[in-house]
Amino acid sequence: MAQDLFTQHCRQEAETAALARKLAMSIDYLLQENPGAHLNISLVGDLGAGKTTFARHLIQGMGYQGRVKSPTYTLCEPYPLETSAGNSTAHHFDLYRMRDPLEWQEAGFSEHFDAPGFCLVEWPEKAEGTLPPFDLEIHLTAGEDENTREIKLHALSSLGLATLERLPSSY
Ligand code: ADP
Ligand code: MG
Repeated sequence: MAQDLFTQHCRQEAETAALARKLAMSIDYLLQENPGAHLNISLVGDLGAGKTTFARHLIQGMGYQGRVKSPTYTLCEPYPLETSAGNSTAHHFDLYRMRDPLEWQEAGFSEHFDAPGFCLVEWPEKAEGTLPPFDLEIHLTAGEDENTREIKLHALSSLGLATLERLPSSY
């Protein structure tokens, strides 16, 4: 069976950036092979674990040139992408400040979960299981000191598995 889990130690932010850029390449291949596809990705980990940092490098790795800020107050920030796979959108969510699990739906964000491209969701647990299923879960741990930082990519669907299989083996 194909490997559904990929683990890497990321002691420096540069290593986190490199892994996020590898994932960007893999998503780009996947979108080329499946035009119009949507990938749903969760970012799980404590405050300061590096979720926003990972999202920033991933979105910039897809060619986005502007600033990627934390969507803490807006809940969602859209980033238009123009890649070899065509036009798509990265929607970056941070649900930490939601007061109700369905606030994301009331804000009209449902349609983002099947738009061509991908969604990246920080604090998905705040939605209490009301979000569409995830294809990939990214688990980040900061650990007690910098040397124990770890990032796990866990495939939860066939699309997620295809993404992991396409991860470039070298930078
Ligand atoms: P979160 O979104 O999970 O709350 P952030 O990405 O906002 O976390 O913050 C992580 C902080 O840790 C950033 O200031 C980042 O520069 C720093 N950092 C240090 N080492 C790393 C690493 N190896 N990977 C990711 N971030 C790191
Ligand atoms: Mg964050």
